[in-house]
Amino acid sequence: MKIHEYQAQELLRAYNIPINDYRLASNAREAREVSTAWKRVVVKAQVLSGGRGRAGGVKVANSPEEVEAKAKAVLGLKIGGYPVSKVIVCDFVRIEKEYYLGLILDRSRQGVTLMLTDQGGIDIEELAESNPEAIHKITLRSDIDEEILDAFLAESISSKELRKQAISTTKSLYSLFLEKDASLVEINPYALTSEGKMLALDAKMVFDDNALYKHPEIESLRNPEESSDDEAEAKAKGLSFVSLDGNIGCMVNGAGLAMATLDLIKYHGGRAANFLDVGGSSNPQKAVDALEIILRNNRIKAILVNIFGGITRCNDIANGLLMARKKLNIDVPLVIRLVGTNEEEGRTILREAELDSIHDLDDAIKAVVKAARGSS
Ligand code: GDP
Ligand code: MN
Repeated sequence: MKIHEYQAQELLRAYNIPINDYRLASNAREAREVSTAWKRVVVKAQVLSGGRGRAGGVKVANSPEEVEAKAKAVLGLKIGGYPVSKVIVCDFVRIEKEYYLGLILDRSRQGVTLMLTDQGGIDIEELAESNPEAIHKITLRSDIDEEILDAFLAESISSKELRKQAISTTKSLYSLFLEKDASLVEINPYALTSEGKMLALDAKMVFDDNALYKHPEIESLRNPEESSDDEAEAKAKGLSFVSLDGNIGCMVNGAGLAMATLDLIKYHGGRAANFLDVGGSSNPQKAVDALEIILRNNRIKAILVNIFGGITRCNDIANGLLMARKKLNIDVPLVIRLVGTNEEEGRTILREAELDSIHDLDDAIKAVVKAARGSS
């Protein structure tokens, strides 16, 4: 789960990490009103996406009139697919240097990798490509040893006094990361101000969805725009669903099989429209719900049903598909692969209803990729 910058800033504040004070506003007039505490301010779009600066979502304003005009412009933007509905207004800070400070759950190194560069401010992904050596990394696996941390920070921050500030911030950020089950926290820019203060001027955080049940205070920060309507509905119906940008709808049982199915579709030259795991239950209604959600996407050119029956019984799925066919207008080719528990019963049900099913997965994938091409 992602959160907005202002929400992330609140968490940093709670962990005693120095941030730049801000006010939140949801319209231009409000932005103007809350800006009067400062002479020169920065108006920043609050969206669940990075790269706001580049998209025109970060603007400096020198008077209340200018704040109103700039807030109006920012509030009219769409950044990374998200319309801007809130901005923050904050004191303009004179920056000497922009660092990037980040922590990421790093499975390949089996720890939490701390990243620091003195070339912050721009997209870290871009720097990682053009000049990866500029990003210093160290993997943390338990408590931070202060001496080791200081030596690491010294690769990017030469001043002892600034490192003292950075040590405190890094330790707090690491505590936050572990205590809240984050998978990513980034401060970019981690700014050295002209007054010699190291300030978090922008923060991004992502939390592990599977750990949110332990952190109601984080769950309560959830922003509904993070999931599409389809994703929210699927969740409510007990389906695990993620929208993708292809044209082949997928209904699969089991997350691993669903991932393998997406890989195979790609391998055979097709593009999946979604990930959908109907789960291990055997309720025919689930098939109806799943197809209903898949069909709502008007990019769909063909649908693949890939069931490897274990707990899920093929005859229940077959009955679900017939129910769905009665209830929904399935106007695209439907390719069904059905194997496992009660496979024969399932096939018989489908055959009697004049629906074909395929046994071999590769054959099914090839058929659905071809069908999606044919009808496009
Ligand atoms: P992002 O583009 O979504 O990462 O948005 P940021 O909040 O990081 O802002 C983008 C850039 O705007 C930063 O890297 C800074 O260079 C600049 N910026 C933001 N706030 C201030 C500020 O208070 N003072 C100065 N001088 N620059 C700022
Ligand atoms: Mn930033």
